[in-house]
Amino acid sequence: MHKNNTHRDPVCGKKMNPNKSHAKIKYGGEIYYLCCPLCQSEFEKEPQKYIKQN
Ligand SMILES: [Zn+2]
Repeated sequence: MHKNNTHRDPVCGKKMNPNKSHAKIKYGGEIYYLCCPLCQSEFEKEPQKYIKQN
C-alpha cells in the first residue's frame, strides 16, 4: 500500500483516491480533497473548523 494514495475528506471523513475526488483545495500550505460539492462548500465556509479535527 502506498500511504499517499488515499486522502481523507476533512469534512465527512471519507477516504478517497485523489484522482476520484470532486475538488482539490489548497489551504494553509496543505492540499485537501473533497468528495462532493457539499463537502467543498462546507470546507470553504469554515476551513479552520475542519482542519482542527486532525
Ligand atoms: Zn465528503
